[in-house]
Amino acid sequence: MFKLKKSLGQNFLTDKNIINKIISLEPLINQRIFEIGPGIGNLTDSIFNKKPKSLFLIEKDERFFKILKNNYESNNNLKIVNGDILNYNLNKIENSDLIVFGNLPYNISTQILAKFIKLDKWPPFYKKIIFMFQNEVANRILAKHNTKDYSRITILANLRLDIIDSFKISKGCFFPIPKIDSKIIVFKPKKKISFNINKIENLEKITQAFFSNKRKMINKTFLKLFNNNLFLAKKLKISLNSRPSELSCETYYKMTEHYEKLKNN
Ligand code: SAH
Repeated sequence: MFKLKKSLGQNFLTDKNIINKIISLEPLINQRIFEIGPGIGNLTDSIFNKKPKSLFLIEKDERFFKILKNNYESNNNLKIVNGDILNYNLNKIENSDLIVFGNLPYNISTQILAKFIKLDKWPPFYKKIIFMFQNEVANRILAKHNTKDYSRITILANLRLDIIDSFKISKGCFFPIPKIDSKIIVFKPKKKISFNINKIENLEKITQAFFSNKRKMINKTFLKLFNNNLFLAKKLKISLNSRPSELSCETYYKMTEHYEKLKNN
């Protein structure tokens, strides 16, 4: 028996009904599938039974990699990489219309989502993402402005992704049972992005600047970022005594557009 690694977020989804519910969110027959952190293959087996065109797996734990390799070795439409998704270059994927699954390792789930948002090419190589998050993290992604959950990842995700579905999964569906419930979120990439942001890093810089003082009024941060440009605040209808969570996603995107003009990049 294996000793599971907490550091790699190893909580396996064992509830068959939930596994079926997840893989039925999209017809998988003849589709290209990408799965992050397959573990011992609980989701993978069910995906495979749906006869996808190809299946690409990336698993960091060498012990699971070996098990998966043994189980699937004879299938040439399946590729398994023993690696870290955070170091994997997604920009080199040439196929398109992939469906991405991941019961994600909890401690890096926002980083993984950010990586799928910050691709060079847009529309990206995938047509749908079906990710499992810890409930609290999911609520941040799904949040609206003016709520306590509204955060940097809400703003980043909404720039390029549409959220088309989400539902809760009880912690009892996993082994070992985690402390908190989870949530599935289904994303679709936006075909057309209505804001002209050249570098997503600039949006991240702006949200970092504001959200590192989440409870404070935005005036100091705004004036520092925009060289005391009160006219811009007026133009964007930003009240400088707002708190960061009171500004809509669109306002952050517009601020980033202006920031890029100002910095000329
Ligand atoms: N999908 C399986 C396992 C989920 S647990 C199931 O639902 O049963 C999360 C899995 O992600 C574990 O197998 C863990 O080893 C793997 N993992 C953790 N960090 C990873 C990383 N950086 N890159 C790829 N896989 C990772």
